[in-house]
Amino acid sequence: MPELRKDPIVQRWVIIAAERGQRPSDFRMESPVADVNPRSCPLCPNNEERTPPEVFSIRLDGSRPNTPGWLVRVVPNKFPALQLSGELNRRGMGLFDLMNGIGAHEVVIETPEHTADWDSMTTEQLYRVFQAYQARLNALGEDTRFRYLLVFRNYGVQAGASLSHPHSQIIALPIVPQLPKEKLTAARQYYLEKERCLFCDLIFQEQELQKRVVMESEHIIVLSPFAARFPYELHFFPKAHNHDFARTEGKVLVDLAEVMRRILKAIKQLLGQPAYNFVLQTSPNPIPRPGRPDYWGTLPYDYHWHLEFLPRLTRVAGFEWGTGFYINPVSPEAAAEILRETLSQLPNEAR
Ligand SMILES: [Zn+2]
Ligand SMILES: [Zn+2]
Repeated sequence: MPELRKDPIVQRWVIIAAERGQRPSDFRMESPVADVNPRSCPLCPNNEERTPPEVFSIRLDGSRPNTPGWLVRVVPNKFPALQLSGELNRRGMGLFDLMNGIGAHEVVIETPEHTADWDSMTTEQLYRVFQAYQARLNALGEDTRFRYLLVFRNYGVQAGASLSHPHSQIIALPIVPQLPKEKLTAARQYYLEKERCLFCDLIFQEQELQKRVVMESEHIIVLSPFAARFPYELHFFPKAHNHDFARTEGKVLVDLAEVMRRILKAIKQLLGQPAYNFVLQTSPNPIPRPGRPDYWGTLPYDYHWHLEFLPRLTRVAGFEWGTGFYINPVSPEAAAEILRETLSQLPNEAR
């Protein structure tokens, strides 16, 4: 019997229709990336002049900005979705609210190696990527026009990637978008009622049940969420309460890099090369709200950052568009079990 499940955080219902009996092999995908010759790749070393000048980089000693020698490089997007300069000019027109499309759109070039992916990078290199996120989140957070900063990664054409060179993106928005807002509101309400973090409670409960825990390290826990929208959807949390990725200690991020690499290895072992998205859900920019001095008062206690991993194995179609429901043909418990098994069989190489 299919099951209707409600997400305890955003209150979104999903249909877990596991009797469709899909095995990992039914989802196997090969090479989701439209490959570009590294010579013509604008993100490869020696092509630095083909991107806007960098706003951040981690480099080998002695190398100059916008020349080779970088290990991670952040540049403004050449085709930004939003424009950096100007005023917001919030306005209303009867029922309609609008404002200028002000924001920042940056590309994090994660490695000079054109064909790498997170599972094949060293832990040290992936940690540098996270350091670049932190540096840019902190820098963009100083701009009081920006209320929300989103870090995301599209891998593979089906997930929206237009370049195969490993990269992620950062978008700064003048509003808090719907999905993060739902999470923030749920977390705040829960905290006001119980004086506890909703996510900490969720993690504790999953640790007790041990049905949907995929992996746990010293600082990180990976869960197959109870109301997962997609087959093999995974959520990564820091185990110690922390609302802000940008203020997370290095040792936690090194651990996250290590866990991430292993999880992606297991996913690839199981599913081939699926396209996927990563989305970082972290604290909004707590800029003062006029007339609401206490607006972000409980944020450091009630929110808990996490990374969502969303493999693109199923298609969103009419039913989803018409209802906001997702149908997931793999139960989160089965996904957790098979991933645990795959993880236990991976060779134990530390890099
Ligand atoms: Zn490249
Ligand atoms: Zn928490």
